[in-house]
Amino acid sequence: MTTIPSLSPLDALHDRLREPLLHFIGGEWVAAQSGETFDFHAPTDNRVLGRAASGDARDIDRAAQAAHAAFPAWKALSGKKRRALLYRVADLIEARAHDIAVAESTDTGQPIRFMKSAAVRAAENFRFFADRAEAAQDGLSLPTEGFLNYTVRQPIGPVGVITPWNTPFMLSSWKIAPALAAGCTVVHKPAEWSPVTATILAEILHEAGIPAGVVNLVHGLGESAGKALTEHPLIRAIAFIGESRTGSLIQKQGADTLKRVHLELGGKNPIVVFDDADLDRTLDAAIFMIYSLNGQRCTSSSRLLVQRGVHDAFVEGLAARVANIRVGDPLDPATEVGPLIHPSQLAKVCSYFDAARADGATIKVGGERIGETGNYVRPTLFTDARNDMRIAQEEIFGPVLTVIPFDTDEDALRLANDVPYGLAAYLWTNDLTRAHTFAHGLDSGMIWVNSENVRHLPTPFGGMKASGIGRDGGDYSFDFYMETKNVAINLSGHRAQQLGLPSAPQNKEQ
Ligand code: NAD
Repeated sequence: MTTIPSLSPLDALHDRLREPLLHFIGGEWVAAQSGETFDFHAPTDNRVLGRAASGDARDIDRAAQAAHAAFPAWKALSGKKRRALLYRVADLIEARAHDIAVAESTDTGQPIRFMKSAAVRAAENFRFFADRAEAAQDGLSLPTEGFLNYTVRQPIGPVGVITPWNTPFMLSSWKIAPALAAGCTVVHKPAEWSPVTATILAEILHEAGIPAGVVNLVHGLGESAGKALTEHPLIRAIAFIGESRTGSLIQKQGADTLKRVHLELGGKNPIVVFDDADLDRTLDAAIFMIYSLNGQRCTSSSRLLVQRGVHDAFVEGLAARVANIRVGDPLDPATEVGPLIHPSQLAKVCSYFDAARADGATIKVGGERIGETGNYVRPTLFTDARNDMRIAQEEIFGPVLTVIPFDTDEDALRLANDVPYGLAAYLWTNDLTRAHTFAHGLDSGMIWVNSENVRHLPTPFGGMKASGIGRDGGDYSFDFYMETKNVAINLSGHRAQQLGLPSAPQNKEQ
């Protein structure tokens, strides 16, 4: 008997990418009806990494029909049975966590050190929502004189899930797990720059026994497949994660079919450092929240507001650490910042180096591309910035931090709120009153005090202003994926006012 040597996860990935990635519709792997594919690229050198089926309105229609057909049986399945299936999904994700991490790093340029835990978090998302599947339909009892009102929740129907290219596996699980736990069926359109792990997720869902048609995957570009999904009449709601301007397009596209939309969008999140903060811990968190995940996370702290008394010392400490960050191959466990996902993202980030110079900020560290191959940039620190500069107002979405000094709490609050976004904020102070007062004044959906972003899944996740509409997490997710119905029971036996009786007396009271 010959022994077949097993392939390393990376070899196995390249091996499977010899064939184009297919759609997964109604339980079958299928090519695009047009026969077209699109290329996606390796961020390390921009060579073609693979091809994926290029979906259009016909593929979306087929997937929406499959999700529509599968909905009644999935909705009717007990919460207990849905829970068991979703647990199996979580187990399979964990079993393949290393392969998923390698695929995600290779496809997106995210360092492997962070991607391992991203796969584990995806499994946690499935287990968390699985545990709530049974109670998702629970409602309220609202008795009044002569009536018992009670509410029940039921799944809204087939939903569209549209995801971005930053940590795509974890973010897909964050949307798909609650939708399935609620009893909805799904059509998933992942980002065209990073389609690999969406395909792995579809394989896992299938292997776990999720019935055919309950989750469908259509690859493709935003303006074709994504747009068609938002316009399809059988799709009842769209859960979207991506840029603010795409979010507003999605609202427009969904208007004719009255889509319910949930938008998780961009951010320009402040980290506010008061002079009474524990500056050592603050420094670690400030660096972690912008330079981990290549600075490509919606909750990254991309604006550092520092009180003037500690500004210079803090910035010096920061600059030394930023200059030391290890940039390199995303599959190297020592790498702290990998390449950006795409040449156009590289060009976007580099354009802010020019904007900083033009607006008169100082490039204290970095501010340049590394080499000519791949999409590597040097982790960058802008100082001497004002809040009205582009580098302080616009989401750069790269390993780039803008520092702005402030004097008083009032200044800091004004600066923190003076951006179009309102997703997250981080406060560093040991003054309890100041922390609470400031948190209440912030226009941000999520605030962490003396901490980096540490998620607790029942808490609401989402933003204000241009950062989005709606909240995810715990029961907030079920509110989006479910309809609330009220049932009113007459307990008093009273009659309604009688109209049209043969000899009705004149009714003087109306
Ligand atoms: P993007 O908006 O360019 O694309 C996101 C998805 O939308 C992709 O799948 C794309 O194909 C699709 N799309 C594009 N145009 C569309 C259209 N007209 N109709 C339907 N779908 C369309 O975003 P991106 O560049 O992939 O992701 C980065 C952005 O996502 C950043 O702004 C980041 O802050 C944001 N983000 C937000 C959160 C959050 O929770 N708030 C989380 C992660 C990322």
